[in-house]
Amino acid sequence: MIPPASDPPAASAAKVLALVRILCQPLAPVRIQLDDATGRVLRESVAAPEDQPAFDRSAVDGFAVQLDDPSVRFLIVDEIRAGDWKPRDLQQGEAVRIATGGAIPGTGLEVVMLEETRIDGPILTIPRRTGDRNIRFKGEDARAGQTLVESGIILEPGALALLAGAGCSHPLVSRLPEVLHLATGNEIVPPGQQPERGHIRDTNSTLVRAFLGRRGIVPIQVRTGEDREAIATTLRAALAESPPDILLISGGASVGQHDFTRQLLVELGFTIHVSRTTSRPGKPLIVARKGQVIAFGLPGNPLAHFVCLNLFLRAALNAFAGLPAPARGDFQTARLTVDLPADGSPRETFWPARWSLADGTVALMPLRWASSGDLTSLASANALIRVPARTTFLEQGSQVQFIPANDTP
Ligand code: AMP
Ligand code: MG
Repeated sequence: MIPPASDPPAASAAKVLALVRILCQPLAPVRIQLDDATGRVLRESVAAPEDQPAFDRSAVDGFAVQLDDPSVRFLIVDEIRAGDWKPRDLQQGEAVRIATGGAIPGTGLEVVMLEETRIDGPILTIPRRTGDRNIRFKGEDARAGQTLVESGIILEPGALALLAGAGCSHPLVSRLPEVLHLATGNEIVPPGQQPERGHIRDTNSTLVRAFLGRRGIVPIQVRTGEDREAIATTLRAALAESPPDILLISGGASVGQHDFTRQLLVELGFTIHVSRTTSRPGKPLIVARKGQVIAFGLPGNPLAHFVCLNLFLRAALNAFAGLPAPARGDFQTARLTVDLPADGSPRETFWPARWSLADGTVALMPLRWASSGDLTSLASANALIRVPARTTFLEQGSQVQFIPANDTP
């Protein structure tokens, strides 16, 4: 079937990625609980509220003594545990027992490690001094006002710990997008249900949910048949009541008699920006927008879903989160562990693969894939190799482009 004249021309994957980034602008930032912020994008730089450390602290368990005290025998005059605040002057021959993290009681002191001393009741003997002060000085890690965590980074556990240390209990992060996902098709049944003849289990709803779940996004999911009017009514209501940021429609994206996604979106007032790609799998991809809502019509085939989610939905999620496009482009380079016998397709192909670290470098193992109906490779796929159009063979050891999958931002 020839596409209608108003259809935009088929777009390359690179063009779709660029377009998605233009269509999706960063969502408004919100303050959330620190404990809920794992994996979220920080939208403000966070500075140290005070010097770090905020006071001179002992780096070891030991005894604080005067820096230049020539004594060998000392009188133990006090004990400072972590959390105590006991400023005092020390005289020659005096020592204060101090725990790791304890506040150093004054200036001009050093801490002698417990292991370098002998204790006999109140008498401490230090046979020789190592010259180490064993103090973590006020401000030596960061000065008050110094930026600790930059705006725009993804909050991993280490950065979250720094925020905790800075007293940032409610960081400003990007709001998560609301996602509405419709899985269409008369043939699909829930995974827990025995399919009747001619039916199949719905795998796309699980894929979409798991993919978004990695970012803490819980989509609203509806499984529908192919009754166009029923779907249109569902969508009209959803768009009027609480429009999502992202509308995903699985299935019906192609040009078959019952593939209605494109027409439906037009009827609902969406502008179609992409209706086909020059890549595969996932050729009949629709990208549309109405107001602030971006819609993706995804071909029902699960491998096409896997590819479209990892390329295009990921780009949308990153753009909404406020992450810039990767400076070095979307694709990384690694070597093939075995030959990849491609089929010379005139389309750029995203080939399921598994990346791993081997001898300190990334190695890519292409997985079995003959047709877009082949799904078993999904069991271990964690990457997509970008095979250029008209490639017939890629030799073991050659460098190829790939994109890691499974939603690493
Ligand atoms: P469609 O895009 O609706 O033409 O579907 C293309 C292929 O994907 C068909 O073989 C469908 O049966 C299959 N398919 C559609 N939706 C799903 C789904 N949710 N889970 C698994 N396969 C699906
Ligand atoms: Mg269908």
